[in-house]
Amino acid sequence: MRSVVVCTWSGARGEILEETEAALTIARKTSVALGSDLRWLAVGSVPDEAPEIAQRHGVAALEHIEDPKLAGGQADAFVEALAQYCRAHSPKLVVFSQGFDIRLVAPRLAGRLGSGVVMNAVDIDAAPDGPLSVTASAYGGDTRVIYEMADVGTCIVSLLANAVVPERVEGAAQPAPEPFAVDLSAIEERVRVIEAARTEGPRLEDAEIIVAGGRGLASPENYKLVEQLAEAMGGLPGASRPLVDEGWVDSSRQVGLTGKITRPALYVAAGISGASQHMAGCAAAKSIAAINTDPDAAIFRYARYGVVGDCLQILPELIRAAKQGS
Ligand SMILES: Cc1cc2nc3c(=O)[nH]c(=O)nc-3n(C[C@H](O)[C@H](O)[C@H](O)COP(=O)(O)OP(=O)(O)OC[C@H]3O[C@@H](n4cnc5c(N)ncnc54)[C@H](O)[C@@H]3O)c2cc1C
Repeated sequence: MRSVVVCTWSGARGEILEETEAALTIARKTSVALGSDLRWLAVGSVPDEAPEIAQRHGVAALEHIEDPKLAGGQADAFVEALAQYCRAHSPKLVVFSQGFDIRLVAPRLAGRLGSGVVMNAVDIDAAPDGPLSVTASAYGGDTRVIYEMADVGTCIVSLLANAVVPERVEGAAQPAPEPFAVDLSAIEERVRVIEAARTEGPRLEDAEIIVAGGRGLASPENYKLVEQLAEAMGGLPGASRPLVDEGWVDSSRQVGLTGKITRPALYVAAGISGASQHMAGCAAAKSIAAINTDPDAAIFRYARYGVVGDCLQILPELIRAAKQGS
């Protein structure tokens, strides 16, 4: 039976091991349903923790591809290395966890292999004799689409961050990394990464509490109210895209379709209208609390708690209350 492969790339930005574990979780369930084995292909370099993580997820084989051309975030080299791997092993399915690099790579790999790709995936359903059925987020997170993937070549699936809660298995053996040799001599360097973007400190994707501000804050100085409330509540500050586009905050704070996909216990949205592209990044929160002057704002459709009012008056009250409570 053709295998299921989770592929990670140390690339220019490095790997996020929590997301690798989510990809391994869904890939293992799929491999069990298909009766096939689960492999992990680490491209670039193998993280030190990889054998242990592989064991926790029942990975049968941990393979790695190393080549100097894979070091600098070269998507051309990555696509070629994977295409060579897929031609040699013909896996049934390759699962990526979706990040900026993977958005560049997964569709190109499918094109190279003449197979199908599903981006923004949130779930995979498989039966031994049926087609793979992949659920994906669509229309800016407004809806779910189910794709049935024809059994042609290798199916490529790119899993959204925070779509799957990692689950571990007991009793599996620990695989040792095995090299897979590729020939990348024909790859020319077309892109050079001068300096990779680095985010300092905790990640929004992991935050239990997020306080996010939108255009209703009216001016960049008012964003400090969002930061202060986040700090007082032990959470992290987030933002809607216009605040990033206007240069009020760093892009690492952006929540949404083209920003971070989060899953906090509490998401406080201040002066955010609730556009579908924003909600794609926070609709999975356990509770959303919204402050908006417009009682008809879309955000109230998602909110468990809503305050119709001016966030510039309400945020200072909440900061005071949070500080008193802590
Ligand atoms: C391809 C694509 C991708 C996108 N990706 C993202 C993404 O990743 N993240 C994202 O956020 N957006 C994204 N967008 C943009 C998105 O469509 C919206 O334009 C954006 O989310 C709106 O941001 P906002 O809610 O802050 O602003 P607005 O829509 O302008 O809403 C401001 C809200 O503040 C309220 N308000 C005004 N004054 C106050 C006050 N004093 N107190 C309280 N409330 C007040 C208003 O009633 C209004 O509801 C994307 C768009 C496209 C086309």
